[in-house]
Amino acid sequence: SIFQAMEQGDYEHLFFCQEQSTGLKAIIAIHDTTLGPAAGGIRMKPYATEEEAIRDALRLAQAMTYKCAAAGANLGGGKCVVIGDPQRDKSEALLRVLGRFIRRLNGLFITGMDVGTTLEDMDILRQECPYVTIYSEALGGPGDTAAATALGVVSGMRACLKAVYGDERFQGRHVAVQGVGAVGSHVVELLVQAGALVTIADVDEERVRSVATHEQVTVVAPGEIATLPVDIYSPCALGGVLNQTSIPTLRCEIVCGSANNQLQEEQDGELLEQRGILYAPDYIVNAGGVIVGADSLLPGGYKQQRAEAAVRRLYQAVEQVISLAKEQHVSTNRAAALLARKRIEMMKQVRSVA
Ligand code: NAD
Repeated sequence: SIFQAMEQGDYEHLFFCQEQSTGLKAIIAIHDTTLGPAAGGIRMKPYATEEEAIRDALRLAQAMTYKCAAAGANLGGGKCVVIGDPQRDKSEALLRVLGRFIRRLNGLFITGMDVGTTLEDMDILRQECPYVTIYSEALGGPGDTAAATALGVVSGMRACLKAVYGDERFQGRHVAVQGVGAVGSHVVELLVQAGALVTIADVDEERVRSVATHEQVTVVAPGEIATLPVDIYSPCALGGVLNQTSIPTLRCEIVCGSANNQLQEEQDGELLEQRGILYAPDYIVNAGGVIVGADSLLPGGYKQQRAEAAVRRLYQAVEQVISLAKEQHVSTNRAAALLARKRIEMMKQVRSVA
């Protein structure tokens, strides 16, 4: 039952929103707001059943709680799923109605885009709801979050370099970037600026050509990138790239990239640890977008410098995870979950005092 599912995962709320004239059917799951308003994107998908949509909303909201808590953000976890085909069913009216529903939650849920929604959609929602925190630069918002995500990834890399080599600088370091799309291309730019040697690969040759314009950047075939002898391997394309088959073939010291769900299984984190490879948990280092979104809610609205400073603090979040992993003799992905739970428990205690 729905209440059983909510009890098992310790969810706070599950909201169902429907409006007939626009065909809107949306579900907003609020997992935990101990650390702050529940942050999570709006996903629009033609879910086969309502049950599938509910499950997705619950699962993704919980993941957001862990992401925000482990990344050191003062945010909780939530998610909105809209049942429908984004190509066929999305309309301005549907988005505006959804915006009004989210506004009624009065800041309990803050949101931005996800699979099936775009920055332009957020601009429409924003007209109805101030709790849409990712919207166009032209309207005073943070705009596309890929650059912020890349900044977070590179900050995470610095913390890893410091832990492995005692020096966080990129000069003389070699980084292999897998996938040079929206995030990967910004990662390459930041690495080149910082003096790293960069090798890239992408299945899209056009993308490779547009990024490989600097003398510090070399190109290899997509099949070679993950096994290069480098300081850092940065997966910025697909999930599941760290698994039983791939891990024994890695020749890097550090894995740190933006791709979601890099570990195929939770225990692949231990395989990396046994190989002496430092893994920066993906959901921490790719939290830059959520962090810049939260800046829109601060006094005076979105301020780029302040938001970037907050993203750079992912360095400290990764440092904390590394030291907790050492202290508890666990892999970094397990340490990230521990750290998230510790922060939530700490805040509950603080609240019980005052
Ligand atoms: P994107 O689609 O713009 O870029 C992905 C790139 O990877 C594309 O250029 C694609 O051609 C390439 N690619 C696909 N398969 C490949 C392969 N086998 N080998 C090499 N390259 C391959 O996506 P993005 O927005 O840059 O996101 C990249 C990853 O980061 C995704 O997993 C995404 O979920 C995650 N992420 C993105 C953001 C963000 O702000 N955009 C935030 C958090 C996480």
